[in-house]
Amino acid sequence: MQRIVLDPGHGGEDPGAVSGQYREKHFNLQVAGAAARYINERYSAAVHLTRITDITAGLGERAAYANELRANLFVSLHTNAGGGTGFESYVYTSAASGTQVYRDRLHDYVARFYALHGIRDRGKKKANFLVLRETNMSAVLLENLFIDNNNDLALLNRPDFIQQLSEYISEGIAQTLGLDKRIEGTGIVPARAVTTTEPDQARQFLKAKNPAAPDYIDIYVKMGGIYRIRWDAVFAQSCKETGFWKFGGLVRPEQYNFAGLGSFDGNEGASFKTPEDGIEAQFQHWHVYFHGGKLPTGRPELDARRNAALSTGWGGKLNYVEELGGKWAPAPDYGISIVRDYMAPFVDGISAVLQPGPVPEPQPEPDPGDNGGGWNPAAEIARLQKDGFVVNDHAPDSFVTWGEFATVLNRLRDQS
Ligand SMILES: [Zn+2]
Repeated sequence: MQRIVLDPGHGGEDPGAVSGQYREKHFNLQVAGAAARYINERYSAAVHLTRITDITAGLGERAAYANELRANLFVSLHTNAGGGTGFESYVYTSAASGTQVYRDRLHDYVARFYALHGIRDRGKKKANFLVLRETNMSAVLLENLFIDNNNDLALLNRPDFIQQLSEYISEGIAQTLGLDKRIEGTGIVPARAVTTTEPDQARQFLKAKNPAAPDYIDIYVKMGGIYRIRWDAVFAQSCKETGFWKFGGLVRPEQYNFAGLGSFDGNEGASFKTPEDGIEAQFQHWHVYFHGGKLPTGRPELDARRNAALSTGWGGKLNYVEELGGKWAPAPDYGISIVRDYMAPFVDGISAVLQPGPVPEPQPEPDPGDNGGGWNPAAEIARLQKDGFVVNDHAPDSFVTWGEFATVLNRLRDQS
């Protein structure tokens, strides 16, 4: 399955370009969120976002995140400023030819959308931007319109325009990468997604079920941003596991274990010092399934069962909340129940619900460092780099032009 990292530029303390009351960071997140939703609904791909909320994230952190995931494509989404109008795209100053091919396809596809609105195509450009330079995979940055141009700003404030723009970007990505169509039945609610659920929606849902329940909703919202997992799903799981904080099972309220971590076979499970620790441990367990091994920078390891979850072979392999069935808990409809019984009542837009099916066996992806039969593209490139035949970094699946091929052959001839 191909991995795509969408990078909504700026966020948190960094607003990006500012125009009156408008902040670039909000437009970027809207476009990325809608693009991720579109791809998840139509294609089979693992979509990751460098942020799913209005959170501060460093440029190096974003690139490192994509590198850690070994993503196939990185697309950074920005809004322009500085007196101008229109759309432009960037690749790194000395981008590999494969990256340029990807960019040309994506750019041309998105440009068709802008042409429909009579918007200027400012062209295909190159720049030494950190997220383009430090990412190991093909990376493209799109500058969508100018926040300080009144006509452009009016378009950015139209939800239908943002939606269509996001669809063209997503479809452009899908065609650029040749994504397969979506596999039906895996899930409907992606866990790594931008949610528009307001904390009060969750609050009202909880109060209606248990007026005496403690209110930890702000902690869920905060952790969702840090762990890049939609908080409403994790909160819904706690409602399921604790019976809306009435408890009643083996786990006692004072353990602050709101997800039944380590509680099975008559074991009362893990205990945490504070509600925040317990909720963070819960997010760390989700993180195993939806992101993989490495925790976000600077977070303390709180979930003692992370390694056990990783050893199931499902680490970083799940995309949808429904897929937790048979993995987090043995019941095949475990994740479906979270969506159907605990999210749908307070989360907008969840209408269709999956039916439980058989749980597939884990299928570990082959190590990209060893494709079998002595075929190891990354190592072969590294060998050529070491001996000076290839100078720049190249992704093993990027394209080679005749000019580059001839250059490598001539370096070989010069040395022999
Ligand atoms: Zn920007």
